[in-house]
Amino acid sequence: MHYFSYKGNELHAEGVSLEALAREYGTPLYVYSKGTIIRHINAYKEAFCGSGGVLCFALKANPNGAILKLLAQEGAGADIVSGGELFRALKAGISPARIVYAGVGKTADEIAYALRKKILMFNVESGEELEMINEVAGGLRTKAPVALRVNPDVDPRTHPYISTGLKKYKFGMPIEDALEFYRKAAKMEHIQVRGIHQHIGSQLTEVAPFRDSLKKVLPLIERLRASGIGLTHLDIGGGLGIRYNKEEKDPPVPEELAGDLLPLIKRVPGLTVVVEPGRSIIGNAGVLLTKCLYRKKTGEKNFVIVDAGMNDLLRPSLYGSFHEILPARKNRRACQAADVVGPICESGDFLAKDRQLQAVRQGEILCVMGAGAYGHSMSSNYNSRPRAAEVMVDGKKHRLIRKRETYRDLVKGEL
Ligand SMILES: *Cc1c(COP(=O)(O)O)cnc(C)c1O
Repeated sequence: MHYFSYKGNELHAEGVSLEALAREYGTPLYVYSKGTIIRHINAYKEAFCGSGGVLCFALKANPNGAILKLLAQEGAGADIVSGGELFRALKAGISPARIVYAGVGKTADEIAYALRKKILMFNVESGEELEMINEVAGGLRTKAPVALRVNPDVDPRTHPYISTGLKKYKFGMPIEDALEFYRKAAKMEHIQVRGIHQHIGSQLTEVAPFRDSLKKVLPLIERLRASGIGLTHLDIGGGLGIRYNKEEKDPPVPEELAGDLLPLIKRVPGLTVVVEPGRSIIGNAGVLLTKCLYRKKTGEKNFVIVDAGMNDLLRPSLYGSFHEILPARKNRRACQAADVVGPICESGDFLAKDRQLQAVRQGEILCVMGAGAYGHSMSSNYNSRPRAAEVMVDGKKHRLIRKRETYRDLVKGEL
């Protein structure tokens, strides 16, 4: 569910016309709907937090400070994967007691930073990382709370670049070896074993892979308890998908995920559930506005050349992913198939291929839907393009939450 819809012929974010925003702030422009974000946060809170669960927003989906502040006010924690993300989360007012830290390559400095800030737990991805955390915690005369990230070897049935829960990927520790790792961890002087973590992939459209994974993880928790290693936290990861294409069916909502998983989890008493959604909170709460610069026809194809490229929205180029593209203003022109492409000098620079669109004219604004997650956060300066501005809409109000970069910003820091 989101609050982007046509009022008459004009596409709106809540009560604001997107065409008017494009005129006021320029393009390419990311626009977010505050109401949609709050709706999604509440859906997770109702599903998981009633029973004491901890909601940790995955910052990498969208780390804009204004969005994080909103999430902090709504009581959300953070799932971070770098020291930079920890800095952003704390700056936005997210409580360290609700921050979990994953990622296969945490540096000693990053570990020390997180220890000093007293985060909820490190989600540890290897034996050597565990030793490093023990060492750094010793140096700071403290104990590091950890969960081991297990790789349950289940197929999340999503794109290979965003699946993580199969043995062939770099994430987590093989579940068969987990018992041994836990025994080692329990003996380390500066480690406090707190939980267990799984995150099997992203853009998951069914509950089954979560369930399959828990069926391996829950018995492990019981075995660990039987051998005197008492875990208190079960982090089930994030990964719930959103609908990018009208033709597809809706992925499960948080309520369905909780309805399916919590009864299973409750069979093992005394576990605090941590959930780490990114995309399903912010994905369809944001859109990318772009202007048609030119059109051209080659023998085979119609091209619509727009002012947003793969540096602004990488997902189509990186994953071949589908984003719905809607005209900011509907008209009665016939549809035709076109490739919507950006200005970047790469043939891989496209937002859509062979897409049926109402015939587009020069200067018209197009709206790339479902761009709130892994959109601006993955954007870059490739081709020396300043990164796009971001705007938050709240009812009939709107405000800039990130300035458009300037040419000066491009060379800032160069010596
Ligand atoms: C990326 C990531 C998430 C969030 O994934 P979404 O698909 O955006 O919900 C959660 N946990 C970890 C460890 C991640 O790396």
